[in-house]
Order: sequence, then C-alpha cells, then structure tokens
Amino acid sequence: MNCWYCQVNQENWVDAVEKTMYCVTSRHTETKYLGTHTTRAAQYSRETVRIPRCHACKVDERMTVIWAIAGGVIGLFIGASLANLLEHRPLADPGSGDLLYFVSAVVAAVIAGYIAVQIRNARAAGTRPKRIHSTKDFPRLKELKAAGWTSDAPSA
Ligand SMILES: [Zn+2]
Repeated sequence: MNCWYCQVNQENWVDAVEKTMYCVTSRHTETKYLGTHTTRAAQYSRETVRIPRCHACKVDERMTVIWAIAGGVIGLFIGASLANLLEHRPLADPGSGDLLYFVSAVVAAVIAGYIAVQIRNARAAGTRPKRIHSTKDFPRLKELKAAGWTSDAPSA
C-alpha cells in the first residue's frame, strides 16, 4: 500500500498514524450506596483507524515541528528582550505579572515560529515528499465523523 500523505512512497508499517475514534452507544444512570448517590455512565464503541505513512513523511512532519519549536523559543527570547529594552530593565529582572513582557514574548514566539516553518519549507522544497493528503481527508475517518464519531472519548 502507498503512503496516504504523499501517495508515492511505499508505506512503512511502523510509521503509520493511528487515530482512535469513539461513538456513544448508550448512556445510563447508576444508583449506588442504597440510593444516596447516582453516577452517569456512557458505553461507547471505539475503532482505531490506521493511516499508512512512509518514513519520509514522518520525518518531514517531525522536522516541521522541530523548526516551529526552535523558532518559537528564539522568538520568546527576542520578545522578552525587547520588552526589557522598552522598560529599561536588566534581563535578570523580568518582573512578575508584567503584561507587556508576557504579550510581547508570546507574540514574538508565534511570529518567529511561523517564520521558521516558512524557512524550513523553502529549504526542504524539492527534497521533501509532496504532501497530497492530510489526516482528516482519510476516507475511513471522514465516514466515522459523518456518522457522529468523535476523536475524544465520550464523557458520561
Ligand atoms: Zn509519504
């Protein structure tokens, strides 16, 4: 079978994506302790959907995450340093509960993470597997979702 994501490479068994889906079959209330307590319980079916993936697609995904995190961490420092400069504070004293400090660090982290992923995409273009499909396009997952199944275990 070919990899679902690039549709070109042979799938690699250990690199498959597994998604467990749930569907409530019945809900009921149980009475406990001589009628002093009631608890709600749900019964559900589950199905684990296995999506074939090749090793190249798995590595590609992981590299994108690594670039995003690395960019985010760098951005966090830049944002925090800028806030410090604006407030003429030494770096060792970020000041607790400082909104400007927090907001600028988070905004810079998100922007830098985004830029890092764009750089990564540009660098990897040509060598990386072309991603044709995404996880949510997988036919069995679409079928189950259409039938009311969810990816979270149902609560009582
Ligand atoms: Zn692939």
